[in-house]
Amino acid sequence: MLKPDACFNKITDIEVSFLKENSIKGLILDLDNTLIDLEHNFIEGIKDWIDNIKDNNIKICIATNSISKNKIAYLAEQLDVPYVYVSLKPLKFGLKKAIKILELKNNEIAEIGDQLFTDVWVSNRMHIYSILTKPVSKDRFKIDKLKRKIEKWYLTKDNNN
Ligand SMILES: [Mg+2]
Repeated sequence: MLKPDACFNKITDIEVSFLKENSIKGLILDLDNTLIDLEHNFIEGIKDWIDNIKDNNIKICIATNSISKNKIAYLAEQLDVPYVYVSLKPLKFGLKKAIKILELKNNEIAEIGDQLFTDVWVSNRMHIYSILTKPVSKDRFKIDKLKRKIEKWYLTKDNNN
C-alpha cells in the first residue's frame, strides 16, 4: 500500500515517454517540496517541464494539502494549471476533486509527490499510478525529519510489498 510505482530524484527528471509507456493521460501534482521549495520558489525548469507535458496532451491538476489559497492561486496561475487546495491527503477528498477536473479514469492518472504517507498512500488506495520524488528542501521541523526517517527506512527495507 505504501510502495510507490516509480521513484525519481525530481519531477523534471520524469520524461513524457515514461508517462506514455505507462498509459498516463493526466497528472495530479503535489505542490510543496515537489514543485516549489520551502521559500515558495519554483524548482529549476518546472515551467518548461509543465509546458512540455501539456504540449503532449497530458492534463495537469495540482492537489495540495496547503490551506493558503492566495499562495496556491498565484503559483498555479504562473504555471497555468488548475488546482485543488486543502486536499486532505492521505484522505481521498482532494484527489477525487482533481480527478473530476482532469475528466479521466483513475488508472489513466499518475500522482507525483514527495511524501510516502500522504501522496503515495492515497494514490495507491485509489489505483492511481504513484510517483515519489525526493523532497526539494530539507525539512525544518523535527516531526518532518522523523517522518522522513521512517519513509527512508520503509523504502530501503527488502520486504516492502
Ligand atoms: Mg509535498
